[in-house]
Amino acid sequence: MTNDTLTISNPATGTKIQTLSCTPTDALPGIFSQAKRVQSAWAKTSMKERVRLILNLRELFIDQADSIAKILSDENGKPEFEAFANEIFASIELMTYFSAKGPDLLADHEIPMALMKHRESYLHHWPLGVIAVISPWNYPLLMPIGELVMGVLAGNAVVFKPSEITPLIGIEIQRLFEQAGFPKGLVTTVIGDGRTGAAIIEQRPAKIFFTGSVATGKKIMRAASDHLIPVNLELGGKDPMIVLEDADLDYATSAALWGGFSNSGQVCASVERILVHESISQKFNSLLAEKTKTLRQGPAALGNNDLGAITFEKQKDLYESQIKEAKSKGAHFICGGEFSADRRFLRPTIVTGANIEDLEIYNEETFGPVVAITTFKTVDEAVEKANHSKYGLLASVITKNIPLAEEIAKRLECGTVTINEVVYTAGLPETPWGGMKDTGFGKKHSAQGLYEFVNVKHIHKPIHGALTFKSPWWFPYTPHQRAVFKHLFELYRKNWFKKLAAIPGLLWNLIAFYKNEPRI
Ligand code: NAD
Repeated sequence: MTNDTLTISNPATGTKIQTLSCTPTDALPGIFSQAKRVQSAWAKTSMKERVRLILNLRELFIDQADSIAKILSDENGKPEFEAFANEIFASIELMTYFSAKGPDLLADHEIPMALMKHRESYLHHWPLGVIAVISPWNYPLLMPIGELVMGVLAGNAVVFKPSEITPLIGIEIQRLFEQAGFPKGLVTTVIGDGRTGAAIIEQRPAKIFFTGSVATGKKIMRAASDHLIPVNLELGGKDPMIVLEDADLDYATSAALWGGFSNSGQVCASVERILVHESISQKFNSLLAEKTKTLRQGPAALGNNDLGAITFEKQKDLYESQIKEAKSKGAHFICGGEFSADRRFLRPTIVTGANIEDLEIYNEETFGPVVAITTFKTVDEAVEKANHSKYGLLASVITKNIPLAEEIAKRLECGTVTINEVVYTAGLPETPWGGMKDTGFGKKHSAQGLYEFVNVKHIHKPIHGALTFKSPWWFPYTPHQRAVFKHLFELYRKNWFKKLAAIPGLLWNLIAFYKNEPRI
């Protein structure tokens, strides 16, 4: 890239696709003020109208699935099936869920009053305004689409910056929103790299929804803090998979295979660390290696490949450095550990060894087709090892003993635990997605995720206008007023005799209070 253009090439073939002009940073103030204007009108549209347009968008995703998948495969290098299943289908499911559930979730919600029975409270949800969505390149459709759909459903406008590695799908997303009938300017795609991302923050969006690396997440949070802009951070992972002694080996190795190598391992929730009970580790490793060798790797255009290319050139340097360190320290590469001759594909890699837990390849995010395997003797040791990470996105447990897996799940330090499944719950719109520790904070998807896109206002009123009176704690502060409150405390005691004993004094002071101490 130069300062003002991006050249997009297919990472699986090297073929140049297009050169794009970046959005000039001095165009951003205009983009934001246009978005604000459009958003003010959009916030007044009915929920029915918003849902209608989201369902139009879903129709376009179905009609145009082939061309959308082609853009994804071409600029990201993933197999077409991964574009279909993991991005387009998951997006369709997400639009279906939020158009059905969103209106109720965003309606006013009553809060039953515990004490003040003469009053009532409810929560009113209202839009944040113009929000910013900044996305990575690994799932360049699925990652932002949830934020865009939830964002507009909640009445916001969105300024969206796709990754500079995969901007074409970003342009396509804006086109699809406009074709679906959303007003122009409600979703605006901005093209550029980190400098453009940083310039977006200077426009003071109402909130920043960021998905990407820990390093960038920290920069964004620092910049946002200058303007007190709230941030949602969905960052990296080094997700563990625990394989218990009783696990079905065929099932466990297939789960590890897809969990570690789908999307060429360029998944935040990829299985990167496998913790196998020592009694089954040898059989597990050899079966996993056997299955790994059957995987087909190549450009999407060449048909039914299982693994695509490595999308981002710089990521290859990270793989090389982790592999080099592991080799130099005597790690055992069961398979893989090297690139294809044209360096576009990293062979699916399984690494283990006595000192694996000391190596970067086991501890730092790889974000590629690499799994590092270690062993454990007891459940406690497995939990301790799984939690020994700076990240906390997802973990999986493979076993026939579901109750034991649930016990383990409750002890794991992460946002999601899948039992006898791996990775895929970011594709379930009804469940919350997000992590802890260096993985960041805030939730995507589910009711919790939807509420990230609204201001929540508490409205408190009398149940009837006639029940408007001066509250007993108002001025002036007087002796019977004080005594009433002192007696009230007694009603909260555990002991029933003491509660009952307080009632005569409470009533006597209450009457004296109302008779003799009018509120001013
Ligand atoms: P990245 O942090 O390099 O870039 C992400 C986005 O941030 C890009 O659009 C980039 O242009 C922008 N950006 C860079 N510097 C910026 C700045 N100073 N201000 C504003 N924006 C800036 O990440 P990446 O390489 O695109 O993605 C890979 C990372 O994303 C991995 O660590 C992966 O684990 C993580 N990820 C996390 C999730 C999750 O849900 N937790 C999902 C997908 C990917």
